[in-house]
This record gives sequence, structure tokens and C-alpha cells, in this order.
Amino acid sequence: MSGFKMTLIACQQCGRRIMVRMADAERGTITCSHVGCGAVNILQTAFHYDEAIVQGLPEFGHLTYIGKPGRIYPLQFGQNSIGTADSCTVQIERFQHNGRCFISRRHCTLTVSFDKWRGRLRYQLQDGVLDGELRQLHSSLNGTLLNETPLQKMELIDVDHESVITLGGVDRFRLTHYFIPSTMLDTYKVDLSFNPDRTE
Ligand SMILES: [Zn+2]
Repeated sequence: MSGFKMTLIACQQCGRRIMVRMADAERGTITCSHVGCGAVNILQTAFHYDEAIVQGLPEFGHLTYIGKPGRIYPLQFGQNSIGTADSCTVQIERFQHNGRCFISRRHCTLTVSFDKWRGRLRYQLQDGVLDGELRQLHSSLNGTLLNETPLQKMELIDVDHESVITLGGVDRFRLTHYFIPSTMLDTYKVDLSFNPDRTE
């Protein structure tokens, strides 16, 4: 338990202050030391995970083209522009359907961030890509669907593990999240403070 700091909490029963030590924190309870009280307070740990953890991750998930197994597109941390242009973070080939390609050069954006409270990566999808100096959002020509539902303009939506993203109404990709191993998460856990559990 690194980063542990001794903390004062108010006793749930008598309201007087009691000192939480590491042993109490590990046990998860503290008995009030004040005369005439002795109430057992349940400790609730408040913590988050250090964002530096992302620097040590081996990967950040990927997209798999459905219909052509083996066609895998790795994702980066941060914004991934997706399209057929070679300037995209994730360059997709121009899949042809009756001689036509329905994926735009710069089609959509998938942003990978770290949720420090839940200790996992978050994936958010938006149709279009931010372009130029003014960082204006340029929509795709044929739209983006998440699990068969079209994204609205400017809509930013969370994408769950194994969700299907459809580009241009035809080409489908399955998102695979990268899950941070719990053993690694434990070493990046930061204890913030201790609060008496108000539900007890
Ligand atoms: Zn007390």
C-alpha cells in the first residue's frame, strides 16, 4: 500500500475525530477510541490510478475487419483518425463493392483515453475527422454506424468491447479493447483519503 497517509476521520456515531492508521486501512474498519463510544466505523477507500500507467502499456486495442480475418488495425493512445488517406492514424485500404469504395479519405475518429477512476481504457467514436488549422470537423460522406445505429453529427459515443463500427454503411469492423492486467493496475493505485461509509 504505497502512498498511504494517516488521515483523520469523523466517527459515524459520536462525530469526534479519530486517526486512521495503515493497519486500520488494511483491515477496512476502525474502532472509535473515544470514551463511551467504541463504534466500529467501516472505511471506504477513495483511490484512482496514476495516468502514467499508459506509458507502459504494450497496446491500446485494435479494430478487426469483419469478413477478412487477419485484417487487424492497431490503435494508438489519443485520437485515431480513420480513413483511406495515408495521413490517417489508422489507414484502411479502399475496400471495393461493385467497383466503389464507401469509406471516406478521413472518415471517423476513435479516441482512446484512460479512465483513472475505473482503471481502464475508454473508447469514444465520432463521425468525421478534425481537419486543418481551425480544427474543424469534416463529416464522412456515407456516415458511421455503431452497432447498426447511425451516429449523429457531432455525437461522441462510448464504444464497448466487441462493438461493431460500420463505415460508409458497408464495411464492418469489430473493436477489441485492451484490458490492463490487474497486477499492473495495483502498482499504479493511488490512495486519496479514507471516508467513513455513509451507508453503514
Ligand atoms: Zn465515536
